[in-house]
Amino acid sequence: MSKSTSLAAQGVLFANCIPYFSTLYITPLFEMVRRFSQNYVAPFIESSPVGRLFSGETTINNVLQRSFKNKSQMLFSFAYTDAERVRGVSADKNCIDEIQYMDISFLPIIHETLSASRDWGIIQYAGTPKTLDNTIEKLWNDSSMAEWVIRCPHPGCGHWNIPALEYDLIKMIGPVHSGICETVPGVICAKCAKAINPRPAAQGGTGRWVHRNASKRWSFVGYHVPQLIMPMHYSDPEKWQKLVDKMNGKGNVPINVFYNEVCGESWDSGSKLVTVTDIKQAACLPWPCLVDEAKKHIDSYIYRFVSVDWGGGGVSRGKSSMSLQSYTAIAVCGLTPDGRVDIIYGFRSMTPHEHVREARLILGIMQTFHCSHVVHDYTGAGTVRETLLVQSGLDPANILAVAYVGPAKSGLINFKPANEFHPRNHYTMDRNRALNYCCQFIKSHVIRFFQYDHRGSEDTGLLHDFLNLIEDKAESGSGRDHYRILRDPAGPDDFAQAVTMGTMMLFQMHGRWPDLSAYESMNISDEVRSAMKGRALEDPE
Ligand SMILES: [Zn+2]
Repeated sequence: MSKSTSLAAQGVLFANCIPYFSTLYITPLFEMVRRFSQNYVAPFIESSPVGRLFSGETTINNVLQRSFKNKSQMLFSFAYTDAERVRGVSADKNCIDEIQYMDISFLPIIHETLSASRDWGIIQYAGTPKTLDNTIEKLWNDSSMAEWVIRCPHPGCGHWNIPALEYDLIKMIGPVHSGICETVPGVICAKCAKAINPRPAAQGGTGRWVHRNASKRWSFVGYHVPQLIMPMHYSDPEKWQKLVDKMNGKGNVPINVFYNEVCGESWDSGSKLVTVTDIKQAACLPWPCLVDEAKKHIDSYIYRFVSVDWGGGGVSRGKSSMSLQSYTAIAVCGLTPDGRVDIIYGFRSMTPHEHVREARLILGIMQTFHCSHVVHDYTGAGTVRETLLVQSGLDPANILAVAYVGPAKSGLINFKPANEFHPRNHYTMDRNRALNYCCQFIKSHVIRFFQYDHRGSEDTGLLHDFLNLIEDKAESGSGRDHYRILRDPAGPDDFAQAVTMGTMMLFQMHGRWPDLSAYESMNISDEVRSAMKGRALEDPE
């Protein structure tokens, strides 16, 4: 069963069940909608044994319009470079296929076609995920995010298998064997590795939809359908062999094709440093990100720093190779007596050009949270702003200026005394290592945050900035691996930068670095191991 077949069948069914029902189908390109209309919708009408009942001489049947005897119709259009073509059309339902290629800003224009629909106004999207920054990924994150969860029926196990990449999907792909059939599927339990049946209970299996964002269940439902839960794949040894081969990269199938097409998951060549799950687990402090709530807890900390990543408003500042708007992000970081760093409070200022206002804002936050120092990024935007902080009455000795640098041989952080070229004492920080280090601290709960603050794409909060950090392990021509941390163009990373600088400087000034191995038996990346080795040897001050 393919996505297009399913959409076409549903379309013809809706049209003939509801009189005067108008469905508008949109794909990015004309060729896509032509293929859908001709190859998928037309056969349902023309080869239907009851076709005479709903289609005939009085109805229209061409590529861009198909009407029925009950006055319902299916309209087909496309919108790649603009959405002008659909203006003036009136519909009860919009169905947008291949949404991954569609510009998200066209959607409101397209959905205007529903404004006259009194009883319906249904919107349906379908597509295959590609990279992490595209339309389908945004819509998916806003939806109820339903996964076809399969509970393991074997005694003593009972594991809830979630076929999503961040959970069990890969482990659920069992080995190929000749006995694969409807009753012995290729899908296995991620925990006990025994075969499990994805069918729903009524058909003898243990599968069912579970909505991750249950509150969106009735307003914006979304379903993730990876190939491995479809009977045509898991009950046929040959199809299963193909699926496993794709996973193993046979026939030069790139890994992103496997993730996109087979798993139905977005994937970039780079990968995220932390997952949503990591962030949610680290956001375990009991208060929300509100000044009045957060300031009640300041006495639990030995030191408190306020850390600022200045916004440049469209300047990339070498932070990332992809330039986008950037705002000033502020993090209040506190060192606990047991050597952790808590992010007590955070704020994003949307006015990066109003320097005086921002300087006052930062001084206000310092006073509220009794912070001893300001940590800020000294490169680019930071110099002018530092002058303003000093003019507003801050002692320069309480300002820790940090300049991000490329891969440094000497260590993570180095103290640079003022000289004739650099009239200011400052610290250099190895950017890639510091960010990597910070993300590992988040995963091992050395860094904890105020309550999770993401409320959907309209109100993304601060913590999701960490999800916009992606690793890029491109191999350069010289054969030497080239490791960088980039910002995903889908969103800002300023808060992640502020947290990183603040945390690193707290450890640096305190003179004690956490021993990650003491926190949990997790796999620490080589990058961090080498950063930590570097730390033990050198003494920057
Ligand atoms: Zn099991």
